[in-house]
Amino acid sequence: MLDLSVINAMFPPDLPEPADWERRFGPRALPDGAEVTRFAPSPTGHLHIGGLYTAAVARALARQSGGVHVLRVEDTDRSRQVAGAAEEFSRLLGAFGLAPDEGGVAGDGAWGPYLQSERREVYLSHVRDLLRRDRAYPCFCGRELLARSAEEQRAGRSPLGYYGRWAPCRTLAPEEAARRLAAGEPYVVRFRCPYEFPGRVRFTDRIRASVTMQDNGNDIVLLKSSEEELPLPTYHFAHVVDDHLMRVTLVVRGEEWLSSTPVHLQLHAALGFEPPSYAHLAPLMKAEGPSRRKLSKRKDPEASVGYYLSAGYPPAAVQHYLRGLANIRLMDVPTAEALAADVRLDGMRPSGPLLDLPKLHSLSREFIASLSPGELYGQLLAWAEEYDPELGSVLARHEDLALAAVATGRPEGAPARKDLERWSCFRDRYGFFFADLFGPAPEPGDDRYGGLPSDRVRAVAAEFATVSPDEWFTRLGEIAGRHGFAPDTASWRRDPDRWAGPPRQVANVVRVALTGATRSPDLVAVAHALGRDEVVRRLTAVAGP
Ligand code: GLU
Repeated sequence: MLDLSVINAMFPPDLPEPADWERRFGPRALPDGAEVTRFAPSPTGHLHIGGLYTAAVARALARQSGGVHVLRVEDTDRSRQVAGAAEEFSRLLGAFGLAPDEGGVAGDGAWGPYLQSERREVYLSHVRDLLRRDRAYPCFCGRELLARSAEEQRAGRSPLGYYGRWAPCRTLAPEEAARRLAAGEPYVVRFRCPYEFPGRVRFTDRIRASVTMQDNGNDIVLLKSSEEELPLPTYHFAHVVDDHLMRVTLVVRGEEWLSSTPVHLQLHAALGFEPPSYAHLAPLMKAEGPSRRKLSKRKDPEASVGYYLSAGYPPAAVQHYLRGLANIRLMDVPTAEALAADVRLDGMRPSGPLLDLPKLHSLSREFIASLSPGELYGQLLAWAEEYDPELGSVLARHEDLALAAVATGRPEGAPARKDLERWSCFRDRYGFFFADLFGPAPEPGDDRYGGLPSDRVRAVAAEFATVSPDEWFTRLGEIAGRHGFAPDTASWRRDPDRWAGPPRQVANVVRVALTGATRSPDLVAVAHALGRDEVVRRLTAVAGP
């Protein structure tokens, strides 16, 4: 084993001891059964829907148990970092109503800082501790040597890593190591894996119950090269120290980390920590024809979280949906209930849930239909100001018209129309109310008039312009008759050849002239929201001079 003085000389003299950190980050005073969970993204790219799903599940498990949910930024891999990514993660989590209780970029909290790059001292204390107990050692192997080992291992179909005959520094004489350190040779610090020939390890995963797999036999790097100005620890080491000192009780993370759990458990044991429980979430899947595949960050636009924001899915609907992916039974209850209900680990399956946008659309439609016109207006405006400024400015200038427009889809005493699944559909379904967005009404020859000859379209539009909307439907039969249409549907059915068309075609002329579409909320309600002048203006524009 290395001499204590040699080890001490590798670190700043005033470096605290692990016990100092234990005192500083003491246990949390929480009720029995409270879970402390964390979301621990690396700021190396964009937040994906899988990350949002993990964060939603981890946060729910903490909140519902009376615990704490922490956001920790795992930024020890300097070379892969993307500027601004950590801030973006915090912003997006907030936008979906998934802000943490503690942590984040500027996060304050007694167990912080929450950026790993600001916790170097904490890690160094623990690296030194492992060296002093011979559970770690300095390794001087250079890049070329390691690359050669990897080549040999691949060729011989041996597992990749630093072990056995490919781990010369594991058995380096302490005097030799001390000499090379004193000579200033670059080194990394490696974990001394407890087994030279590891067997199988068994541990509990809260979703999969008991898991058995090959144990770790690799002397992984704990502290990166001393050539760097301020060497940082690796993810594996940093996160073990942090999970312990942030008093995390339950690690919720993606299944891709399941295979690293054995080495994480070895590190917890070597450091004398009680390990947390683990719940590894299966990846989100996508249906492709009759089969399923993992959602792809590169191929699938819906993998990116930005997609949901710019399309304007209300955050509450997305949260509801994510909880439903975790526990399918939550898909079938109203949003408020689903958001209040517990997410249960024992309701989760080890196979990946299917990301299915039609299901999200239906939840989102329900959610939007449950909003009052005022709530809807507020949420829509907030979205439009950011993602569709032209619509945002129209909505802000015409608040009364917007409220009246939205109210047409929510008639008193009847269920609201479920016609909006995201805010970006608003223009298409309700944009016609606003003169600035409507543009000219379809010309009389347009298909939307159902193939009627132009002169009939003009005549019908002209006549309706002279009738008060309140009388449109009581007088529909009479007006239809005057223009050669059947006065009622029964007459039309009896003798279709006799008429220009059924009476609904007459109503359709008014609908298309006023809304530009063949489907719309109740026409009389639309006419009231538009106001008499605008109704006359639109009808006479179609009627022509
Ligand atoms: N920083 C890791 C990631 O980017 C976190 C893994 C974990 O949660 O332990 O996914």
